Amino acid sequence: MQQLAILISGDLKIKSPEPPPGAFPGRPKYGIIEGTSCTGARGVDFVHFHVHSDFSLRDGLGKVKDLIQAAASMGMPALALTDHGVMFGVLHFYHAAQKAGIKPIVGCEIYVAPRGMTDRDPQQDTRPAHLLLLAENQAGYHNLMQIATAAQLEGFYYKPRVDRPFLAAHAEGLIALSSCGSGEVPRHFQHGRPDRAADAAAWYRDVFGPDSFFLELQEHDLPDMVAVNRGLVELSRQTGIPLVATNDVHYVRRDQAYAHEVLLSIQTGKTMTSPDRLRMNNDSYYLKSADEMAALFPDLPEALGNTLLIAERCNVDLAPSGFHLPRLDVPQGYCLLYTSPSPRDS
Ligand SMILES: [Zn+2]
Ligand SMILES: [Zn+2]
Repeated sequence: MQQLAILISGDLKIKSPEPPPGAFPGRPKYGIIEGTSCTGARGVDFVHFHVHSDFSLRDGLGKVKDLIQAAASMGMPALALTDHGVMFGVLHFYHAAQKAGIKPIVGCEIYVAPRGMTDRDPQQDTRPAHLLLLAENQAGYHNLMQIATAAQLEGFYYKPRVDRPFLAAHAEGLIALSSCGSGEVPRHFQHGRPDRAADAAAWYRDVFGPDSFFLELQEHDLPDMVAVNRGLVELSRQTGIPLVATNDVHYVRRDQAYAHEVLLSIQTGKTMTSPDRLRMNNDSYYLKSADEMAALFPDLPEALGNTLLIAERCNVDLAPSGFHLPRLDVPQGYCLLYTSPSPRDS
């Protein structure tokens, strides 16, 4: 079992896992210090996990290479890509991040159907919950592909969705974060139901494992999220489910907020003069520096430090070396025969 201690506020029991060789190429291993958050290269102690690129179609503005460049220029050791419901950008992201010398973390912000993934009732099934998934290893990467594919081919109803049973059957190798205000756990807090939030969190913890489900804190100055974040911190204290801080990144730089609003207007078929157009509440949805993230959560260093611990755990290899052939199930009585282009070698 993965021997990893998670920083939990008030009870900082830290065991130092040895990151696999090459986890952060060319960078020092992180020291995990009793009672403090751990510190990465150049004192940068934060990794972004909640990142939408322009592969989150008409919702994310940032180009993959620009996101990577920005993270690298801030000295961040790793960066995740978690587009909405799709993995279209993963290979591009993986290779570009490796080239830039930062560790790519492969993920996806998926949609969980409120009932079965094939239920399509306009009254009950139009508001799937968000859930952030990160691939910890190859098994997780394969499960993430299964989830993203089934969500499109079997579960699509306004959004690509899977349901709880499907998720439970494909949870191996994945780390889950409770997501933004549209996540299942945060939504229950918004509706004033901490009991349901606790039940949902317990379900996710049981499915992904106690070290692999995190309560996600975001701070975008949204009035609804005040009660949510308070509830999440309280739930973490009660249950030991660890916290992790994220920023809901939709563009790279703060000055791109207006361009992102234009993109949202295109997505929703509105113009910029429409009074009821969909818009973000402010311009905070950019790739913030570690210092900016730390300033948002001054009392919760563990929520920042856990980003490094999670980043160290995630090791997916998408190197293009070797053969990548499909596995074929051969019917009984037959065998596989490889035929070389040269008849002599057949
Ligand atoms: Zn979300
Ligand atoms: Zn998001």
